[in-house]
Amino acid sequence: MQSFELLRAADPSAAIAAASRSATAQQGASVRFLAGGTTLVDLMKLGVEAPHLLVDINRLALDGIGRTADGGLRIGATARNSDLAHDPIVKAEYAALSQAILSGASTQLRNAATTAGNLLQRTRCLYFRDIATPCNKREPGSGCSAIDGANRMLAILGTSEHCIASNPSDMAVAMMMYDAVVHVVGAQGERQIAIADFFLLPGDTPDRENLLQPGDLVTHVTLPPPEAGARSAYLKLRDRASYEFALVSAAVSVTMAEGRIASARFAFGGVGTRPWRVPAAEASLLGQPPGEAAFRRAADLALAGARPQSQNGFKIELARRCLAHALAQVTR
Ligand SMILES: Cc1cc2nc3c(=O)[nH]c(=O)nc-3n(C[C@H](O)[C@H](O)[C@H](O)COP(=O)(O)OP(=O)(O)OC[C@H]3O[C@@H](n4cnc5c(N)ncnc54)[C@H](O)[C@@H]3O)c2cc1C
Ligand code: SF4
Repeated sequence: MQSFELLRAADPSAAIAAASRSATAQQGASVRFLAGGTTLVDLMKLGVEAPHLLVDINRLALDGIGRTADGGLRIGATARNSDLAHDPIVKAEYAALSQAILSGASTQLRNAATTAGNLLQRTRCLYFRDIATPCNKREPGSGCSAIDGANRMLAILGTSEHCIASNPSDMAVAMMMYDAVVHVVGAQGERQIAIADFFLLPGDTPDRENLLQPGDLVTHVTLPPPEAGARSAYLKLRDRASYEFALVSAAVSVTMAEGRIASARFAFGGVGTRPWRVPAAEASLLGQPPGEAAFRRAADLALAGARPQSQNGFKIELARRCLAHALAQVTR
């Protein structure tokens, strides 16, 4: 690992000032915020990231979880994944979020990992993590080793000829389904970014993964108030029962009226270069009696435009089944 300086920030303005000295928050940045360190330190050990300054944000008072004035939820950027998953409000009113977090990593990792760090974790594409191989995300213009290589785990939606890496976060899939808003403070002041806009498609700049600008500190994430009567769930399909990233996952939330679906929202994980949500697919469920036909039709609409690679065509049928199982669970 290359040598680096560590700065323990005492307040957000000091953190932002330090981080604004140089590019941060994006791949290749020389100044990085350090939260739980479970992604960043891993990548530094592998030589994938080599910041010269780490700004430790763990002393900032950003770890709270509580109600917003409108009855929604405010989740601090450094709230630990374990605390969020076991929060009584989250378990009762945002069940899919709790289940998504608990389906990821391990207890020890979740005790260290934070809200913002989880949102900003990097892809698990093998070549991204292997500095001996070409990778456009790690080294723009070097090529994509995965397109003709090991791509079984990677994306079938939102890909480009430059990158097919899947977004690995489980938590982000549930947050996408719940319409989360990411709150940021930076050199230009505060702003809010809807999660639907937060993650960028790779296009011809796969090294740019989100809308954060140099110096931007994520302070918290908000969720709108829960929908009355909604039942939600997160289903993750993977190669082994725990400690494994998703091949396919689905976060779903549904309300029922007179035996028919009155409202529906869902997002896929594991299949997209970002958590994947298609409002028209959700709308196709409205007024339908729950059942395999309606569920598969919605899945097909959400998966329209899928471009499987040499090893991951199986994800299309797996995603259909994953969504159907998850929707069956909440409409029973
Ligand atoms: C073995 C292993 C298995 C895993 N399995 C899963 C899994 O199954 N599912 C899953 O979803 N995840 C999994 N993970 C990933 C894990 O969830 C992430 O590593 C973790 O959530 C990152 O959070 P952190 O606080 O440790 O981030 P850090 O490593 O501290 O930071 C990650 C990135 O976010 C930036 N950052 C952090 N906080 C802020 C902020 N407030 N503002 C701006 N930038 C910020 C950092 O600069 C860095 O670039 C796994 C990780 C490991 C090591
Ligand atoms: S898929 Fe993306 S992350 Fe993986 S090798 Fe290609 S460019 Fe790199």
